[in-house]
Amino acid sequence: MIPAKFDYEVASSVDDAIRLLGQSDDAKLLAGGHSLLPLMKLRFAQPSLLVDIGRLGDLSYVRGDGNAVAIGALTRHHDVATSPLLRQECAIVADAARQVGDPQVRHRGTIGGSVAHGDPASDLPTVLLALDADLVVRGPGGERTIPAREFFTGFLETALGAQDVLTEIRVPKLGGNASTYLKFNRRAQDWATVAVAAVASNGGARIALTNMGPTPLRATAAEEALAAGAGAAGAAEKAAEGTSPPSDTNASAEFRKHLARVLTRRALEAIGK
Ligand code: FAD
Repeated sequence: MIPAKFDYEVASSVDDAIRLLGQSDDAKLLAGGHSLLPLMKLRFAQPSLLVDIGRLGDLSYVRGDGNAVAIGALTRHHDVATSPLLRQECAIVADAARQVGDPQVRHRGTIGGSVAHGDPASDLPTVLLALDADLVVRGPGGERTIPAREFFTGFLETALGAQDVLTEIRVPKLGGNASTYLKFNRRAQDWATVAVAAVASNGGARIALTNMGPTPLRATAAEEALAAGAGAAGAAEKAAEGTSPPSDTNASAEFRKHLARVLTRRALEAIGK
């Protein structure tokens, strides 16, 4: 399909992008284009103006910053997946990026686009939720930081305002804490039918689920069971509590709940719980 007609502007800086977004009520940022353009071709999205931030090279980086690793929003999935710093300090982010789509998607798609798109089937939002990551956003009123747990508000909906630009993702250095991201899909390059992120923390673990509801979700009941002394198998039995997964051609909601329990057990065992 061919997208509806739209205007196109190239932003020269983040501030320029914010200004350009203000020129139209339904303007959209364009980063890697690997989520937005398919939606436009299907005419599910019909922005009248695209503001291209894909050439803002200063938003593409992975660097240490105290106890955190800072990732620029324009960093491509491939660069996240192959970052030596992330491998050393927060390997789960690199592991999840390595499992996104295929090489073409990973060379064009950006971590910021993945997060801002707010698709509950995406891999990186779940990992950021399990990490209690911070998302740095700049808009007309200046810069603010939004915790990942407050960022994903609904299906393809986030806390971003119409003129906001996500500039940076900040994940904690994990030190000795183990982490894993387990993704179940039918073919290697597919989206997750279900996936589970688990990060060891003091005495327990933070667990988050992909494609088990309208947003990425924390498996709170399983986390609480683990903290109360349950083993991996016992805690994992509660992994699907409070979730509302979709039924589609890949899996029924019941099968997704089963997958969430199985993957959570495996993930907890993998991080030594
Ligand atoms: P774009 O498509 O450019 O933008 C997406 C949305 O985010 C738009 O609304 C845009 O306005 C907004 N946006 C972009 N950047 C910013 C920013 N910095 N600040 C504010 N808003 C912004 N993803 C997975 O997680 N797992 C998969 O297995 C997977 N498989 C895929 C397979 C295929 C064939 C394709 C085409 C995509 C797949 N994806 C998958 C999606 C891919 O990861 C996308 O790259 C990603 O979701 C969006 O990143 P993007 O840079 O392409 O964003």
